[in-house]
Amino acid sequence: MSYTFPITRTTAPKPKPDPNTLKFGKTFTDHMLVMEYSDEGGWHNGKIVPYAPLQLDPAAAVLHYAQEMFEGLKAYRSPKGEVLLFRPDMNAKRTRSTNKRMCIPDMPEELFIDAVKAIVDCDKDWIPEKEGTSLYIRPFIIADEPFLGVHAAHHYLFLIILSPVGPYYDSADGKLLATSIFVEEEYVRAVPGGTGFAKIGGNYAASLAAQTKAAALGCEQVLWLDAIERKYVEEIGTSNAFFVINGVVYTAPLAGTILPGVTRDSVINLLKKWGADVREERLLIDTVKAAAADGSLDEIFATGTAAVISPVGKLVFEGGELTIGDGQPGELALKLYNALYGMQTGKLPDEMGWTVKI
Ligand SMILES: *Cc1c(COP(=O)(O)O)cnc(C)c1O
Repeated sequence: MSYTFPITRTTAPKPKPDPNTLKFGKTFTDHMLVMEYSDEGGWHNGKIVPYAPLQLDPAAAVLHYAQEMFEGLKAYRSPKGEVLLFRPDMNAKRTRSTNKRMCIPDMPEELFIDAVKAIVDCDKDWIPEKEGTSLYIRPFIIADEPFLGVHAAHHYLFLIILSPVGPYYDSADGKLLATSIFVEEEYVRAVPGGTGFAKIGGNYAASLAAQTKAAALGCEQVLWLDAIERKYVEEIGTSNAFFVINGVVYTAPLAGTILPGVTRDSVINLLKKWGADVREERLLIDTVKAAAADGSLDEIFATGTAAVISPVGKLVFEGGELTIGDGQPGELALKLYNALYGMQTGKLPDEMGWTVKI
């Protein structure tokens, strides 16, 4: 590693959570990584310190104008005891494109990756080993300059916190759960020229109203349609969306409104390797409905770091609903989950060269 981070260890280590009752993102490890940016010093003063609340000036720009970004990836412990990351270079590249859109200073890919490795190595005893669990890694950058005018800040904090997590969606037996998805026709997530491709809190704040509607209808997530015509399927909540019709796999193209998911890219590459017909093409919600009606809609699933692959059992509309296949997780979703999860955890050989040992 070319970047190193001095460690101040906690004097009060916390008890590790029970791996059987782990939820997503509720407990945090003993340490965090903190680094500063200033115009004069660039990214500097990176260090690992005990996990603790931040002290921020109430005028910090992030609290008012949301100049911030975040990332998400996971660390797993392999059966041989190695600590594995999954394609961290992709998160480092995405950080650069998000930062550019948000006028946050560029961050070298090597700095991002070395910082992730350093904090995970420090708290590696927190990586849970039970099936379906992992250590979720949350790097993020906030503009902490105290200034109420609107401009790109001159001072930032880069932080990484870690959270031992269980499955994103609760299922009693630890198996993949078929989710219900609400098709949102009123609110939109991302517009051309906007920030849909950037991983930022603002996109999520703007999605909560739809998410609340979905939850009231018993749905886990929202299916977003394109903002201009409200006709094309885009993403599912915090995940990318895949539709299998007559054996052909469709996912929305990366044209500015779609978040370029690492899992999405991995799924496309695996499907190509398996010889599947996978197309990055716009798909009409009406085509999905017609396919469901004539029996050619094989499956729908969402992809993302948190849940890896999450099969969709049901689409819910304002005036009715559609069951996908038999309402249970589809064959391709299960095959992809087993392949990806197997690779990520080191339980299957990594034929793609995607895992990185710390
Ligand atoms: C993070 C995210 C995804 C999934 O990206 P991964 O890199 O696969 O975790 C998809 N959509 C949105 C909106 C996201 O924020």
